[in-house]
Amino acid sequence: MSRGRLAPHTTPLFTLRPFSNKQSILIINPYPVTNKERFMANTQSYAALSSTTPLEPFTFDRRIPRADDVAIEILYCGVCHSDLHFARDDWGFSTFPVVPGHEIIGRVTAVGDKVEAFKPGQIVGVGCMVDSCQTCEACKQGLEQYCLEGFTMTYGSPDRQDGTTTQGGYSTQIVVSENFVVSVPEKLDFTTAAPILCAGITTYSPLKYHGVKAGHKVGVIGMGGLGHMGVKLAIALGAEVTLFTRSESKVEEAKRHGVHHVVVSTDDSQMEAYAGYFDYLLDTIPVAHDINPYLNLLKFDGVHILVGLIEPIEPTINAANLVMKRRVVAGSLIGGIAETQELLEFCAEHNIGCDVEVITINQINEAFERMQKGDVKYRFVIDMKKSYPED
Ligand code: NDP
Ligand code: ZN
Repeated sequence: MSRGRLAPHTTPLFTLRPFSNKQSILIINPYPVTNKERFMANTQSYAALSSTTPLEPFTFDRRIPRADDVAIEILYCGVCHSDLHFARDDWGFSTFPVVPGHEIIGRVTAVGDKVEAFKPGQIVGVGCMVDSCQTCEACKQGLEQYCLEGFTMTYGSPDRQDGTTTQGGYSTQIVVSENFVVSVPEKLDFTTAAPILCAGITTYSPLKYHGVKAGHKVGVIGMGGLGHMGVKLAIALGAEVTLFTRSESKVEEAKRHGVHHVVVSTDDSQMEAYAGYFDYLLDTIPVAHDINPYLNLLKFDGVHILVGLIEPIEPTINAANLVMKRRVVAGSLIGGIAETQELLEFCAEHNIGCDVEVITINQINEAFERMQKGDVKYRFVIDMKKSYPED
């Protein structure tokens, strides 16, 4: 089913190696169409065509790989709450149609002439970014997520070279510059590793930046995809970890995951028992919420790190909660490419993966509904080969 085509291909500027043993097919105008091009055409996916309609089957053409590009057959893609925010235009800057998905694991099918780091057959990952300026102060420090020109999102951004809108991983294939592709260690289970590409790096990056280590007391707020990975990573970094959850059903499971304490956040007496206790709080709640009660749980100099909230804080912060104890409210956005590679190695070494519920792509709307209700343990991951067995 073809519901729409993205902008046409630009003229191919490269050759691929090795790619297909099939014959090229010539048409009269305007350029010869080779199997390389035919291959990248007809990408199967699910897209949101508007903020108010469910995702539906959508066919489009990926760009022909450029000299620095890696073509990837997608095997698994995690379902992040950001996908849901974007599909529903919660942040007000969504573009449609949008194929969400930025926790991508796949197999390299072809590489452009200048690609050195990857070869066909290799298992690789793609996270939330597919390009950045590569020259600014942030990019030079490996902090592409803070690119001063703004990074190119895996979906919903204009491509820096041809202006077409990027589309994400709820699809059969993707083409990405090698600078934004990471190598997936063979030791990792590919299904449970997919969420590392966003949920993992988004929680690991601030924990590392703030120097979390043994002796620190860390509270993780909300146990969905990010929170679940945050708990595992903070424990692996040696911290004493407390989970804050609204869901009684997650208490025992959290303890099985090695969490030292669990606080049911709707119980004021449980909250108050931890006043002034924490060095760091990692807040993954996806909607506006009162952070004042959490600030009171920080020691002096404690840091409340927001990763879930990408909108105004409401109700407002009582400055006394900061001033009187030199506390800090901080934010953090995903993580850089080198740091993502570091995290994949870290997860392989510490045997860390995400607990996942594997689905096929036709279950995506139900998955969105369940995620909205906090009813997922702890990440949906789409099995793309099972979704499109004929491809
Ligand atoms: P999930 O839906 O998987 O998990 C969110 C968890 O927060 C829920 O499981 C629930 O945990 C808790 N929660 C949900 N709703 C509420 C509510 N109304 N009040 C209090 N707690 C609530 O989301 P993700 O982990 O995928 O993403 C979390 C947020 O992080 C999203 O907003 C996402 O857009 C954002 N994000 C930010 C990134 C960044 O770079 N900063 C990158 C990726 C995502 P429990 O049941 O335990 O209470
Ligand atoms: Zn995400």
